[in-house]
Amino acid sequence: MTPVQVSGRAERLLASLDERGLDQMIVSDRSNIRWLTGFSGSAGVLIVSARGHVLISDGRYTDQAQDQLEMSGAADVAVVTARTAAERNNAVSVSTSGRPLGAEALVMPHSEWSSLSAHAELVATDGLLSQLRRRKDESEIGLITTAADIATAAMSEVAPMLVAGVSEREIRDELEYRMRRLGADGPSYETIVASGPTNAALPHARPTSRQLVEGDTVVIDVGALVAGYHSDMTRTFVVGEPSDEQQRWYDLVFASQAEGLDAVIEGARVSDIDRACRAVFEDAGLADLFVHGTGHGVGLDIHEEPFLGSSGDAELVAGDVVTVEPGLYRVGTGGIRIEDLVVVTSDGHRNLTAYPKDNPCPPSPQMT
Ligand code: ZN
Ligand code: ZN
Repeated sequence: MTPVQVSGRAERLLASLDERGLDQMIVSDRSNIRWLTGFSGSAGVLIVSARGHVLISDGRYTDQAQDQLEMSGAADVAVVTARTAAERNNAVSVSTSGRPLGAEALVMPHSEWSSLSAHAELVATDGLLSQLRRRKDESEIGLITTAADIATAAMSEVAPMLVAGVSEREIRDELEYRMRRLGADGPSYETIVASGPTNAALPHARPTSRQLVEGDTVVIDVGALVAGYHSDMTRTFVVGEPSDEQQRWYDLVFASQAEGLDAVIEGARVSDIDRACRAVFEDAGLADLFVHGTGHGVGLDIHEEPFLGSSGDAELVAGDVVTVEPGLYRVGTGGIRIEDLVVVTSDGHRNLTAYPKDNPCPPSPQMT
């Protein structure tokens, strides 16, 4: 797999900094460093500067950093090793020459902010990189598509196992094992398997030892991680025949998601996607049961810009990769959620989620 090529990204950051009267920035966020350089180590800071870029890491990562920078097309980034905070501050101060420095106030530890402030004026520039990262290039979309296809394949393998008597944790373990076997580096996040009248009613339930029983709704929210990039998908199953209420809810969530997807196009306001989804539930008198936002961006982070909620007038851009994931939840009935991952384009969107969703997929019993 060819690593994502990062050339040109640091220059785009410099252009954004220039609009704020700055010509350098210290980057602390791991995903931002990875996006700019390809370096995936867990320690280090990156100085992006009009006078040359420097990655300051500790001794454990020097070789890895040099290899990854080269493979990602970031060979112009110098690698400096610093073993202590004092050495790091010294390296920052040498490469920034006391000039004002953009920094991530929401990410950098306060102690580091304080000690670096003795060397240079720090200016909060949070959000610059998360905006630049929104426009995924073809190689990023390729990795996200691979991750989405792996999750779909794992779900296809595991769906026949969704029968009475199997526990949520067993289903999670099967999905995660199969995603790894299919080529994922791991799950994108802890897989959600939430079943029955109580657990499925919690949008972010963690899998338990509860065993499925006939009549359960089973919400499965699963994604794969491939070369740093995430995927995100939710499907809802019913063990046995759906009740009339479960079928009605499923049809409503399906319709809500279809309305949301229809509204996804370059230039659409994020709040319009949310409103399109919510309107279906309002018409059915169930708006109170849709208790979370409609979607979020996905990339090097599982939750990133843009966030699709009821407020905010941000507009979708071509290359945004976002989820559309309406759901209904009520203790006693359970929960239904359908989530797809799509790429925003100038004429709408491309859906990256191949797993079928036009039925609550009653999986049990499997008669052959
Ligand atoms: Zn999800
Ligand atoms: Zn999601």
